[in-house]
Amino acid sequence: MKLVTFTHQGSTRIGLVDGEEVVNLSSAAPDLPTEMCAFLTAGETALDAARAALAAGGSRLPLDQVHLESPILRPPKILAIGVNYRDHVEEAKEAGMKIPDFPMVFNKQSTAAHPPYDPFHLPRASHVLDYEGELALVIGRRCRHVPADRAGEVIAGYAVANDVTVRDWQLRVPTWTMGKSFDTHCPLGPWIVTADEVPDPHSLDLKTWVNGELRQSSNTKNLIFDCFALIEHLSTAFTLEPGDVIVTGTPGGVGIAMKPPQLLKVGDVVRIAIDGVGEIENGVVEEPAGTAVL
Ligand code: ZN
Repeated sequence: MKLVTFTHQGSTRIGLVDGEEVVNLSSAAPDLPTEMCAFLTAGETALDAARAALAAGGSRLPLDQVHLESPILRPPKILAIGVNYRDHVEEAKEAGMKIPDFPMVFNKQSTAAHPPYDPFHLPRASHVLDYEGELALVIGRRCRHVPADRAGEVIAGYAVANDVTVRDWQLRVPTWTMGKSFDTHCPLGPWIVTADEVPDPHSLDLKTWVNGELRQSSNTKNLIFDCFALIEHLSTAFTLEPGDVIVTGTPGGVGIAMKPPQLLKVGDVVRIAIDGVGEIENGVVEEPAGTAVL
């Protein structure tokens, strides 16, 4: 199934995408939670009810008449992994990158989660803006100390993410948190494909285009620490919860590594596609007036 969070006529809820339609779960299965984290927390029972609603066929809206939101509006955590593709390490060797001994974990703030087709911001604070196409996995069960060989049991599904990065803010201090966490800088979606539909998350082609030009082309088989190893590692230290998002790392081909560097500017369009998962497409806009809140 393809699980979405969508807005229609001012109301935001969850549904399932079926072809060019969205099954509105809040009317097709009114007993189900209407928010994604609560839905995932309800586990197999909720998934079975959703499957039944899909099969029953009722309560559908045309996909082009709804606004798709980030499938999880405010993930409890967004954990991301740096330096996790062999080809990305290769292109960044001059900047001192090497194959890491341990996963290089950082956070994107949960407020960075952003819809799959809405433009993200060229920040007022910096114009050194870059894309990173990545496979995201979504946790479906509260868990800790999960061995890699059982990690599949706690994955609800997969999505496409853009780990948008403000390079100068990322690299001017030892930790990457600020440069990875600007508002709008984690486009996610367009849906969560449930794990049963992704038999092998480590054999998926991943491609990123900027304005139609292919920039990244790799496969998740090139991950240094794969999805299961990451879950084992992260859950050694802390509890993972339904709706947590793990953004697994980007392959070679980011803008900063090009010669000369090709940074994003207003009007650019970034499209990221992962086989069997989906694709997201986001333009770049100037950070609008009015983002100050105080
Ligand atoms: Zn990244």
